[in-house]
Amino acid sequence: MLKTYKYRIYPASGQAAIIINVLTLCRYLYNCALEHRIQAYKRAGKTVNKYEQMAELPDIKSEFPKFKDVHSQVLQEVLKKLDKTFQNFFRRIREGDARPGFPRYKAENRYHSFVYPQPNSKMLPLGGTINLPKIGIIPIRLSRPLEGTPKTCTVVHKNGKFYACYSCEAEAQILPPTGNQAGIDMGVSAFVATSYGEIFEAPNTYRKAEKRLKRVQREVSRRKKGSNRRRKAVRKLAKTHEKVANQRRDIAHKTARILVNKYDLIAHEDLQVNNMLKNHHLAKNIQDAGWNLFFNILASKAEEAGRQVVKVPPAYTSQICSDCGQIVKKNLAERTHKCPECGLILDRDVNAARNILKIALAS
Ligand SMILES: [Zn+2]
Repeated sequence: MLKTYKYRIYPASGQAAIIINVLTLCRYLYNCALEHRIQAYKRAGKTVNKYEQMAELPDIKSEFPKFKDVHSQVLQEVLKKLDKTFQNFFRRIREGDARPGFPRYKAENRYHSFVYPQPNSKMLPLGGTINLPKIGIIPIRLSRPLEGTPKTCTVVHKNGKFYACYSCEAEAQILPPTGNQAGIDMGVSAFVATSYGEIFEAPNTYRKAEKRLKRVQREVSRRKKGSNRRRKAVRKLAKTHEKVANQRRDIAHKTARILVNKYDLIAHEDLQVNNMLKNHHLAKNIQDAGWNLFFNILASKAEEAGRQVVKVPPAYTSQICSDCGQIVKKNLAERTHKCPECGLILDRDVNAARNILKIALAS
């Protein structure tokens, strides 16, 4: 299976300018190649394929020497990318899609990346730097180890930051069974609670960034449409979004890794059902986005390790006593489950996690 690893890179200002220049040239090539396909079809009813377009690259380079500044495989990847959008378009037509979406020209704000296929060892993040052909040696922050066989290296420039993303072919690494099974509850104050009583806290920085995201979102909605101040606020919002998304991914990966190592079976509520039923509230949506990402990461790590993830329908898991089954009503502010029937006193989320495990095992 393919896995993607995303790392922040720190190009010097000259290198940043080169990357931005490569992006501009790639986008230019993409749009010209699209135009070429459209015209060939209009004039001669001819469908141009990627090989014909790739064969023209040497001519393009001698006519426009600027393109010599871009690694040739990177240019080929641009044409392959365009080809893929056409293949998808044709597939949607075959499937009878009413809105197949003809491939579009890319504006500057819609073109963020270019790809090196088959990265060599110098391009891999091993010693704190990577060496990108035609760009140079760039420091990289290795936020988690790169695993598997790298197939591509994608350079991304988004919201003023630079990243290197590696798509790796990962071997399934089946973990030996531990004999333990856990229910997990996505908490309101904690990130995850397990039926064993473990609490995974969301780091403080994450909470802060989340609060900031809500504040900036309100700021955008207060500004007049089309105004300069609104544009500024929208830019700020995109940056904050990105920050929250990165932190979210980070804690999701770390938490999922621990859970998958420890448990043969992990049960959680199927919150997508919940989503459709209620709550289009903003704060809730932000939280849900984080949870869905976590569930996806958990599912992929579990699959790779030969672990089982069970989704249970969400229903009163926080209200039922996990020992005696009595319904103990509580509002969101009550953090502790106190059962008048059997005397069980337990963290609210841990009680819910136990119920979730029970439902999963019963099904
Ligand atoms: Zn009870």
